[in-house]
Amino acid sequence: MSSAAQFREVFNDFIVVAIPTRTDFRGINVREAALFRGPAGWSEFSPFLEYDNNEARTWLKAAVEGAYQEWPRLLRGEVKVNATLPRVSAEKVPEVLARFPGCTTIKIKIDDFENDHYLVEAALEEVPDAKIRLDVNGGWSLQQALLNLHDYHLRFGKVFEYVEQPCLALEDLRALKAEIPFKIAVDESIRKNLGSDLAALREVADVAIVKWAPSGGIAAARGLIESIGLPAVVSSALDTGIGISHSAALAASLSGAEYACGLGTVSLLMDDVVEPPVVAINGVISVGRSTPSSGQLHKYLASPERHNWWQNRITSIWNSGLSEEVKDLGWLK
Ligand SMILES: [Mg+2]
Repeated sequence: MSSAAQFREVFNDFIVVAIPTRTDFRGINVREAALFRGPAGWSEFSPFLEYDNNEARTWLKAAVEGAYQEWPRLLRGEVKVNATLPRVSAEKVPEVLARFPGCTTIKIKIDDFENDHYLVEAALEEVPDAKIRLDVNGGWSLQQALLNLHDYHLRFGKVFEYVEQPCLALEDLRALKAEIPFKIAVDESIRKNLGSDLAALREVADVAIVKWAPSGGIAAARGLIESIGLPAVVSSALDTGIGISHSAALAASLSGAEYACGLGTVSLLMDDVVEPPVVAINGVISVGRSTPSSGQLHKYLASPERHNWWQNRITSIWNSGLSEEVKDLGWLK
């Protein structure tokens, strides 16, 4: 793309917003997102700032698909979602969980047993019949995983739905699976190995965490889920209600709906660009095309410098081959 006019032709009504987050999440206190519109509706491009163009490329592909392609057939009008509990003090847990009304599955990010089991305790105090998911982000060696999960099991028994990415190496996951009474979900194992044969994950895991934007959109994510062959939990990456609407459509297009999805995350932001915000009500979010409200866009408008930064980021990815790829797919004329 050579000119701003060409950019505007593809990325209609392009606008960048900056929304404060409620708690420090991945070290982020303000979430920036680039929003634009195509013939199919609004879409969102919001890879984290530190991602290089190569990693952000699949996110842009997803965003363009969202604006230019119709959704596949949806099997449900709403999707069950889980609550997400970041590492906060025990006193703050009731306040965080109150933002996920009706959610009986709670995902907790942890480092180990010793320092973090208070989070499970506090969550169960709020929601006594909760199913708990522990997310370790691949942080444990096999030995650490065995020790920590032994302690969690001994202390809390059968409250756990699964443990997400306890170790990174497939061999460690395989060894762990033979030893522990936990289901295992894989997240990083998928995201860091896109393009390779993922069927091997079936032997080491029970659940696949799949995300709309990092997968390259709904069609790509559906293909990914099929090739892995495990029940999927569609999760988000701290998107606004626009990005969440596409993730929810992906989830609603899948035949299995056994697990709650990680799509209640707008509650981790101070506000949404969509009114009312796309947050859980009675444990579900409804599925439908979302349009940002002009008042909210105005309220959270990013500075001209940040607007230009995002426009340049998109232009540079778009010009390094994505525009041709998308045209070959027939998404754009
Ligand atoms: Mg994860």
